[in-house]
Amino acid sequence: MSTPSVYESAFLAAPFGAFLCRPDGVFARVNAAYEQLTGYREQDLIGQRKFLALHDPAEVVRRVGPLPATSAGALAQFRGEWAYVRRNGTRVPVSLAMAPLTGALEEHYAGHYIGIAVDTTRHAHAEARLWYVSNHDSATRLPNRELFLERLDLSLARSRRSGEPLTVLVIEIDDLQKTREALGPEGADLALEYAGARLRRLAHAQCGDVPMGFIGGDQFALALPGRGDDASQAAQDLVEAFAQGDDPAPGPMQTPHEARAQGRRNARVNLNVGTARHPADGDDAATLVRRAGVAVSEARRAGRGQVCRFVRAQEQRATRQLELENALRHAIDGRELFLLYQPRVSLQTGAIVQSEALLRWRHPVHGLVSPGEFIPIAEEAALIDAIGAWVMETACRETGQLQRLARTLPKVAVNVSPQQFTNPQFAAQVEAALERAALAPEQLEIEITESMLFADAGRTVRTLHALRALGIEVAVDDFGTGYSNLAWLASLPLNRLKIDRSFVAKMASDPRSEALVGAIISMAHALEMKVTAEGIETAAQAERLRELGCDEAQGFWFSRPITLQALRTLLAPVPFLLAGGTCEA
Ligand code: C2E
Ligand code: MG
Ligand code: MG
Repeated sequence: MSTPSVYESAFLAAPFGAFLCRPDGVFARVNAAYEQLTGYREQDLIGQRKFLALHDPAEVVRRVGPLPATSAGALAQFRGEWAYVRRNGTRVPVSLAMAPLTGALEEHYAGHYIGIAVDTTRHAHAEARLWYVSNHDSATRLPNRELFLERLDLSLARSRRSGEPLTVLVIEIDDLQKTREALGPEGADLALEYAGARLRRLAHAQCGDVPMGFIGGDQFALALPGRGDDASQAAQDLVEAFAQGDDPAPGPMQTPHEARAQGRRNARVNLNVGTARHPADGDDAATLVRRAGVAVSEARRAGRGQVCRFVRAQEQRATRQLELENALRHAIDGRELFLLYQPRVSLQTGAIVQSEALLRWRHPVHGLVSPGEFIPIAEEAALIDAIGAWVMETACRETGQLQRLARTLPKVAVNVSPQQFTNPQFAAQVEAALERAALAPEQLEIEITESMLFADAGRTVRTLHALRALGIEVAVDDFGTGYSNLAWLASLPLNRLKIDRSFVAKMASDPRSEALVGAIISMAHALEMKVTAEGIETAAQAERLRELGCDEAQGFWFSRPITLQALRTLLAPVPFLLAGGTCEA
C-alpha cells in the first residue's frame, strides 16, 4: 500500500478498530484505532499474531469448541459480541464483524479477511443499566415480578430434580393505602423501600440466599426451597421479627441508601402473608404466585399480622369476588341496585319515627347478593364512592317523595363507608343531594361505624362538624363491637348510638349482655345521645329494652326491610293496598 487508495485512507483513519488478516488468521494490517483498542502496537501484531490470540481462549472454547482451523467458514463464526484481552490483561467487550475482502483492496490482499472491532463498553453499561431498570422495581430496588418469576422457575426446576418441596410467600404491607394518603406517594415509596430492605435482611438471616422480589401493588414475594412444613413457621417468624423490629445487625454490604431507610425505624409497618406450596398447590411459578396472592387476601381479611396458607376454596371465593367486582361496575347503570327501608319504631309511642335505607343488588345471574358480601368488594375496588353517592341521592329523593305522599315525617338513616366519610367533599355532596331532593337536613341521619371514629381522627372530626353544621344527625352503628375510647366518644358531636344486635340477641340468656345494654343506654343519655337497639326479634326483647329506657328499636319483630311502597302503606294504610299482601324482601 505505497500509494494509499481512498479505501486504504478510510481504513487507516476509521474511528473504530479495523484489521486485515491472512486466510490463516495472522494479522496483515491494523489501523491506529485497533492499536488503541487492544493496547498492542502494529509491529506486535502484523505477521506476529493471529487475530484469535486477542480473544479470551476460555470464551472461544466455550462458544466455538476446540480452536478451529482458520478456514473461511471458521473466520465467519467470529461475527458477534466477544471479549478481547488487551495487552495489559484487562478485558474489553467488542462487537466484531468479519468478512472476506472484496472490491478495490482485494487485488493486493487476495483471500484476506477484513475485521471491524468496536469497543462496546459503553453499550454494555447502557445495556446492563437497561436490563437492571426493566427487571427491578425502582422504589425497593428488588427484582420485579418478571425477574422474580424467572428466578422462581429456576428454583422450581431444582426442586423438581431433588424432590424437595418449595414454598412461595406473598407478603404485603398492611394498609399501605393509608400510608399513601397520609404521607403522599413519596412517603409510601419510602415505607416500601424501608420494608423491602428489612425483609431482605430478615429473610437472609433466617433462610439464607433465597429468591425475593417486589411483585407490584404493595406485595413482595419470596421462595423458600426445601422447607416443607416448617415454611409456615419460617413465615410466622418473619412476620413476628418484622413487627418487633428484630433486625439482624446491618451487614457491611449495606448501602447508604439502605442505612437511611433503616434509620426510619419508627415507621411501624405490619405484614400479611399468604403461602402456596410446590408441588401441592401448583407446578409453575405463575400459578404459585397467584395462589399465594389469593391466600394473602384471605390473611388481610383475617386481620393484620396473619399468615394464611392457600386452600382451593379461597380460589373459588376469589373468582366469585372478581366476578362480582366486574358485575358491580355496571350495576348502577344497569339499574340493578335498589333500596329497601327498615322501619325504626319509638319504644315509647310505638310509632314509626324513622327508617334505615338498606342497599340491595339484584345480580342478573346470582340473584340477590347481600350487602355484607358486595359492600366490602365495592370498598376494595374503589367503587364505593359512586355507589354511596347513588344511595344518598336515592334515599333522599325517595324519602322526600314518601313524606309528601304519606303526609308524615319519618326521617331516613343512610349507612356510609369509611372512604365516603373521609372524602373532604362528603358534606358538600350530601348537602347537594338534600337540595335536589327538597329534603330538610334534619330529616337525614348518617350512620357510621365505631371504627371510623378512630381511623382518621382529624378528617372524621372535620366531616362530623360539617354535617352537624348543616343540621344533619350522625349515629354510631353496631355500637359495642369496636373498642371505643369513651372520653373521645364524649367529645364528638354525635346524636345516636345503635346497640349492635349481638348484645340484644344474648340479653335473655346472658345477664352480662343485659347489664352492658343498660350501661350503654345510661351512658348515651348522660352524653345527650339517643339510643336505638338493633335486631329485635321477639316481643320480650322489645319489652325489656323499653324498660331499660331505650328510645327506639329496629328489628324483624317490627318489620323486615321493605320496599318504599310497603313503607308508605305502613305509615298511612290504604285499605285496598293492605289487602294485596306484604312487600317483604
Ligand atoms: P347495618 O347497618 O347494621 O344494618 C342492619 C342489618 O341487620 C341489615 O342487614 C338488616 O337487614 C339486618 N337486620 C335488621 N333487623 C334484624 C333482625 O331482627 N335480625 C337479624 N338477624 N338481622 C336484622 P343488611 O341489609 O343485610 O345489611 C348489612 C350491612 O350492610 C348493614 O348493617 C350495613 O353495614 C351494610 N349496608 C347496607 N346498606 C348499605 C349502604 O347503602 N351503604 C353502606 N356503606 N353499607 C350498607
Ligand atoms: Mg346501619
Ligand atoms: Mg348495625
